[in-house]
Amino acid sequence: MERTLSIIKPDAVKKGVIGKIVDRFESNGLRIAALKKIQLSRLDAEAFYAVHKSRPFFGELVAFMISAPVVVMVLEGANAVAKNRDLMGATNPKEAAKGTIRADFADSIDANAVHGSDSAENAAKEIAQFFGAFEIL
Ligand code: GDP
Repeated sequence: MERTLSIIKPDAVKKGVIGKIVDRFESNGLRIAALKKIQLSRLDAEAFYAVHKSRPFFGELVAFMISAPVVVMVLEGANAVAKNRDLMGATNPKEAAKGTIRADFADSIDANAVHGSDSAENAAKEIAQFFGAFEIL
């Protein structure tokens, strides 16, 4: 059993596809252990994406992530990190496999509908950034 952090990004929240994206997880063996809709502050977004600080798109990425509310979730299941990444599809929706969340709901490499942790180690750190232990059920 593994846990991973998923974020439904501002583009998908604004499009009204929260339910459709949550359904992808629940229909594919990932349980929703925690879920909330929040507005990220600039500091939250900068801390979350600190690993990308030196990348040329960092400013755009932070601006996008604070442009509207997001939904943060803890997904739980066997191989949750890899399974979530498979369901998400490639970072660039133009390269995302048919039937993946990004192929179906994302518009561009920056407005790409969802975030998913890329390792179990990062998942634990990302989950702790948004949820207290008492909120994960
Ligand atoms: P992910 O793990 O698939 O989300 O991809 P990364 O960790 O490599 O990048 C984090 C996020 O930065 C991506 O989901 C995109 O929203 C954004 N991003 C990555 N590459 C680019 C880029 O070339 N341009 C812009 N504007 N955003 C990017």
